[in-house]
Amino acid sequence: MAKRASKASKASGTGAQPSGPHDEAPSALDDLSDLLDLTPDASSASSDALPDALPDVPGEEAPDWPDDVAWDDDAPGGDDRPLAERVEADLRVGGALSRALPEYEERSAQIIMARHVAEALERGQHLIVEAGTGTGKGLAYILPIVRSGKVALLSTANKALQEQLFYKDIPFTQRHVQDFDAALVKGMGNYLCLDRYGEERAFQSLAQTRGFATLERMTDDEQWDGDLDLVPESLPSEVRARVAADSDQCAWRACPWFNECYVKRMRDRAREAQVIVVNHTLLLLDSAMGGFLLPERDVVVIDEAHHLEEEATRAFTVSVTPGRVNSLLALRKLRETADDRTQHEVNAANTAAWEALLRVIGPMPRGRQHLRAPLEEGLRLADRVDDLAQSLQRNRPLNMSDKDEQLFERLVKRARSLASDLRTVFGVRDPDARVYYVEMTRSGRRAPQPEVSAAPLGVADLLREKLFDRVPTIATSATLAIDGDFSFYRARVGLEATREVTLPYAFDYPSAALLYLPRLRFEPAFGDASGPYLDEMAEQMRTLVEVARGRAFLLFSSQRALDQVYQRIGTGFEAEGYTTLVQGRDFARVELLRQFRERERAILFGLKSFWEGVDVPGEALSLVVIDKLPFDPPDDPVQEARVSRMKAEGANWFGGYVLPNAILRLKQGVGRLIRTRDDRGVMAILDKRIYTKGYGRQVMLALPPARRTERIDDVRDFFACD
Ligand code: SF4
Repeated sequence: MAKRASKASKASGTGAQPSGPHDEAPSALDDLSDLLDLTPDASSASSDALPDALPDVPGEEAPDWPDDVAWDDDAPGGDDRPLAERVEADLRVGGALSRALPEYEERSAQIIMARHVAEALERGQHLIVEAGTGTGKGLAYILPIVRSGKVALLSTANKALQEQLFYKDIPFTQRHVQDFDAALVKGMGNYLCLDRYGEERAFQSLAQTRGFATLERMTDDEQWDGDLDLVPESLPSEVRARVAADSDQCAWRACPWFNECYVKRMRDRAREAQVIVVNHTLLLLDSAMGGFLLPERDVVVIDEAHHLEEEATRAFTVSVTPGRVNSLLALRKLRETADDRTQHEVNAANTAAWEALLRVIGPMPRGRQHLRAPLEEGLRLADRVDDLAQSLQRNRPLNMSDKDEQLFERLVKRARSLASDLRTVFGVRDPDARVYYVEMTRSGRRAPQPEVSAAPLGVADLLREKLFDRVPTIATSATLAIDGDFSFYRARVGLEATREVTLPYAFDYPSAALLYLPRLRFEPAFGDASGPYLDEMAEQMRTLVEVARGRAFLLFSSQRALDQVYQRIGTGFEAEGYTTLVQGRDFARVELLRQFRERERAILFGLKSFWEGVDVPGEALSLVVIDKLPFDPPDDPVQEARVSRMKAEGANWFGGYVLPNAILRLKQGVGRLIRTRDDRGVMAILDKRIYTKGYGRQVMLALPPARRTERIDDVRDFFACD
């Protein structure tokens, strides 16, 4: 067992982007070795230093418990009861929590989950748990881990969920159950680099950018851990980019600020912690490195585990843009050191490669386009970038300081890594294991540029070898199983768990919700034939919104469907005094949500990003309408390649891949409605294929156990009781 002690602390990690499966992409190995040098020497900050208020975070809720209750000092120390019994006792009325919190209510699903986690911990087993909203699953895994004394990595899908765990669930457990050390590990780019900050400060004495004075005050605060997300007044993004830690510009031990460095302090804290909160990207990078990046651990918990396949695919995808080449060429040290002629050749080869690429796939590709054959001009660019790395080596300056030596080394590695990635994406050498594609991407306000990528066709073998075969893993989410069956999830991510558990719903769905599944006239249709279908869908949505008096999410599977339906009914809603909020038209996602919560009778027209991770408890959201079953677009190269491979293997590509993906996404979508015990409302799915296709029954079985109807009058009656 990894050793650790106790007290709430805080940590961070490196932010370098993984660039590909490390056994296939030498560039990734280069990145990884950089990161090894930079393994976060954790920072620490006691729980006293934590901010008073954090943004609302969707997902599991930690109640706002009173602060004045001490943690349970008489927690079992020499208790020889099985761990499952001990944690159950903590969670039952009469246990540690209810003694500390007079209004404590035990939750049966949480107790079941905590028992399974405890047993899995004691036996060193893998566990998969589907736990719906309201279970309180954070506490259900943190509590057994803490009571077991084991060291755990807790991985979640994004920063917001990391903060939810670190600033709410963990302090709650420390305060009311048992004290222990915890660390938050974010990407390196989230932390202030003292070296870069020093340079920026000199510049800011003239520029005086808004927010910089606040940052200066933060650096005087000994409790602050360098996390730029916690600076109360946000910095302009270009200033933040100039002061954030960056592995390419970090001399690490040779840096004069090393001893005070926030990244180093974070690393120190993480080493001492019993519970280390990370995100999936860091976890996957660490796994690819054989566990060298993050501290030793006894168990890994993957929360929001339904993201794992997608995150692993992203983490192991190699991508290159012309901008990446240009930003290397723009580096002052490179311009001063490499031969002019070589620099010009790289520049010319860069232009030639991307022009050639656009000749192959068309000038402005829509969506992702397959790259099916090697691109010679791209491979020539890779050779020229290799020349550049050699030129740097040849002209290596003499008598550099330690710091400059380190930074020069990183510059050479960066050039080599780029050459390797270019060779990977333009070489199209491994079509059985990777899919190669091009898409237009945009960064900030810059014009769109082509990006060419090589994505892994499958991640299960990699995850099994690098993660699950090495450490017991607990995977949990609200959407992992299809009617209690985890075989799809198991196959996609490679996690063969000894235990698979579907917890009972935490909410009383039959009383709280109505599921409206109308038998429509038209099936979903596309292109010119879609008019009648869209008319019918728009009419259904209009009626539902009127019956619910707004307070609705209208969720679409495509931009086109959203636009077409909005054209039909959007202005009518506005004329009737509803507030319409349209994704992509009005505000960024966070602001759209804020407006939705604050406005009465609001209607949100949303796309994929509103199908999950969005939390609007209470009456503000009383109706969720899904336009159709959310099958992946068949022309996406990654989906297409995965389906093609399954077909070639004679596997059931529809029932074993396409349908389960759609069902899990549908569960996420309808799951937006009921977020607390007091919520009530209507979920509607406007897709007649639920009745007409053979797979409809499977879809029905996967939906929450709300009362079901195909009659709009039942919806009227439901809201009449509001
Ligand atoms: S070691 Fe120095 S350069 Fe690296 S992140 Fe820390 S302060 Fe910045």
